[in-house]
Amino acid sequence: MTAHISDILGQNRISFSFEFFPPKDLAASERLFQSISELVPLRPAFVSVTYGAGGSTVDLTHDLVMRIQRETGLTVVSHLTCVGTALEGIRGILDSYHNSGIRNIMALRGDMPKDGNTAPATDFTYASDLVAYIKKNYPDMGIGVAGFPEGHPETPNRLKEIDYLKAKVDAGADYICTQLFFDNRDFYDFRERCELAGIKIPIIAGIMPATNRKGMNRMADLALGARFPARLLKAFSRAENDDARFENVGIHWAAEQVRDLVDNGVKGIQFFTLNKSKATLKIYESLGITDSMGLL
Ligand SMILES: Cc1cc2nc3c(=O)[nH]c(=O)nc-3n(C[C@H](O)[C@H](O)[C@H](O)COP(=O)(O)OP(=O)(O)OC[C@H]3O[C@@H](n4cnc5c(N)ncnc54)[C@H](O)[C@@H]3O)c2cc1C
Repeated sequence: MTAHISDILGQNRISFSFEFFPPKDLAASERLFQSISELVPLRPAFVSVTYGAGGSTVDLTHDLVMRIQRETGLTVVSHLTCVGTALEGIRGILDSYHNSGIRNIMALRGDMPKDGNTAPATDFTYASDLVAYIKKNYPDMGIGVAGFPEGHPETPNRLKEIDYLKAKVDAGADYICTQLFFDNRDFYDFRERCELAGIKIPIIAGIMPATNRKGMNRMADLALGARFPARLLKAFSRAENDDARFENVGIHWAAEQVRDLVDNGVKGIQFFTLNKSKATLKIYESLGITDSMGLL
């Protein structure tokens, strides 16, 4: 039986995990599995697979989750968003995971449509509705939820935001994985505010090195984890005209963030790999470890 992420996080060890997204074609799939083969020796505690907004990757996500589980034996978390999806659709997806032995779901609302249209009304308005549904109907599923150290753009009131996060926890979430951030102070502040709100489940920090200008701009556009500290921007501007140096700056910054988080009692770190292995391998190297077991 697949382990629950909460059991993995309950062990006395920092859990490093990797996130992948479903590739769109055969060539991208080949590249992803090349990266996975380079990352498996790092012995991640688990990996997770994202889900395209509005169900656009429902089959691709499922296939990738199953293939990773089959070929690597790793515990896999499948992301699932509920916005605009009717109950029958959600039930179908969860049934199929459950029948395939998947026991860990990252329960998300998903982003609202960007074309200005509102998503069709369904039984699920917020991620907390999905968490409650999974908890009631699939009680043996482990459930992760999203947290936002820099805040979520739709809820500028940070007091309410923590109340809504608490609602996801009260509905049955086992752990929180955060959006990416570049200043650890945002994470520590978020962790403390969770503690004050009585949120006791483990919090995994999401880390994604900014390795090129285009990617940085995309993050800033999404505005869901894009406060770039001036110190980082200064370093990037020194490396502006050299892709390799720019990448080095981003990886070095992320490595420093990871080292500081490890030194400050983080329960886990999720590396948003973008289906590549280089940055994650370099960060392990700079921590002085050859695999996740070295973190003890
Ligand atoms: C680790 C991580 C992984 C992700 N993976 C994916 C993925 O695979 N696919 C994908 O499409 N997206 C993914 N996302 C993005 C996520 O779907 C979006 O950020 C989305 O906008 C919010 O999702 P949520 O689950 O936090 O929603 P919710 O918790 O429902 O929150 C959405 C907004 O509604 C507010 N809110 C919540 N409850 C209430 C209430 N009762 N009343 C009023 N307001 C309320 C919240 O404060 C927030 O502003 C991921 C995000 C993270 C951090």
